[in-house]
Amino acid sequence: MPELPEVETVRRGLAPVMEEQEIVRAQINRPDLRWPFPDHMAERLTGARVSRLWRRSKYILADLSTGESLLIHLGMSGRMLVSGDPLGRFVHDHAAPQKHDHVVLDMGQGARITFNDPRRFGAMDLLSTEAAEHHPLLAVLGPEPLGNGFSESYLIGVLKGRKTPIKSALLDQKNIAGLGNIYVCEALFRTGIHPARKVNQISEVRLAGLVPVVREVLQDAIAAGGSSLRDFRQADGELGYFQHSFDVYGREGLPCRTEGCTDTVRRIVQSGRSSFYCPSCQR
Ligand SMILES: [Zn+2]
Repeated sequence: MPELPEVETVRRGLAPVMEEQEIVRAQINRPDLRWPFPDHMAERLTGARVSRLWRRSKYILADLSTGESLLIHLGMSGRMLVSGDPLGRFVHDHAAPQKHDHVVLDMGQGARITFNDPRRFGAMDLLSTEAAEHHPLLAVLGPEPLGNGFSESYLIGVLKGRKTPIKSALLDQKNIAGLGNIYVCEALFRTGIHPARKVNQISEVRLAGLVPVVREVLQDAIAAGGSSLRDFRQADGELGYFQHSFDVYGREGLPCRTEGCTDTVRRIVQSGRSSFYCPSCQR
């Protein structure tokens, strides 16, 4: 499942082929993904020029010359493929249509963007650009972890007195937008906080210490995604999925990576999701 760094990598890959370009053809191959597509979606996209491609949490938004924005969510298995850009960034020929190609956008300069999603947990919607932040999916979100709104005083304030485990509090999208299971596990490992520790049993100094570390784990992953952007131009044009090494995530039973620690990484299940941690390094 793509997390924030993967979605940001997709956005960065799409921006040069979408921004300042006109959508000359929009092909919608089915009535819905996770939700029905908006009415007349192909007509509303055709002829529109993309002015800006931005991200809020795990949503990508394309602001259009029509006053609407196209909202894209990759869901669990959504993939974006870019082909046929004559400017030479994507030299791949258009692939033969695949089974789960649900939306195909042809851009003015010749690039084709294909959204493929076998499990169809992804979503697309059209909304008023002016009111985008009030869209029901976006209005409920807390500040962006890489934005100025996510500060030490903000985090201490929003978590004050909570009796929930820190892991759940950090995954709560009302507190921080777009932070997912993998990067919460990594941030808690780097700060030495046990994922099951209750928020009200963590000092303000330790909570504050999470802010720069959350930014750091995300930025490290986005940097890895950036290298994948350079690589896939020689590969198949697919955006967003890249190899990245984690300290604890997915490493159950393997040695802890802290120097001098002889313990192994453990896995517990919290609210139905796996938490990976080192019992010696995290308290
Ligand atoms: Zn350890």
